[in-house]
Amino acid sequence: MSRKTWREAGLTIEQMYARCTDDCGCMLWTGAHNHKGHPKIRDESARRVVWEMTEGPIPPGKLVSVDCGRPQCLSHLVLTTKAEAARKANARADVKIKKSLGNAKAAREKFGRITIDIAREIRASAETGKSIAERLSVSTSLVSLVRRGKSWREATTNPFAGLAR
Ligand SMILES: [Zn+2]
Repeated sequence: MSRKTWREAGLTIEQMYARCTDDCGCMLWTGAHNHKGHPKIRDESARRVVWEMTEGPIPPGKLVSVDCGRPQCLSHLVLTTKAEAARKANARADVKIKKSLGNAKAAREKFGRITIDIAREIRASAETGKSIAERLSVSTSLVSLVRRGKSWREATTNPFAGLAR
């Protein structure tokens, strides 16, 4: 059996706020919480109860979320949708993924590059792409890119270039 709703129980907004502490404008719930750490009153979401008390009915499919980033807050409530809440959570996850992809790209640029001497050897060699790739421990696609001039442009100046000749 479900318990009485807040309406049936005659709960008021004053009683709700009496169970909060005011912290810089955030009314922080001191009562029970659900498994996600969201304020709960009886078996209901305290956010939904406060919303209904102050704003009226919650449209179907809407969630009552908190806008100030403090899960216990019952002052800064906003209506959202599951999709919007998921999008925000994904956006936070995306930042992490982009950061790790950025690290991978940096690593590839650092270690995937060949020295200018290897590039010169690839260009000067008459060997097949496969054999020079094996000899120099680089990929055949890199050899072909270097030979077609698409990779490793000789923009880097070699400080020893003049000494050897
Ligand atoms: Zn707040």
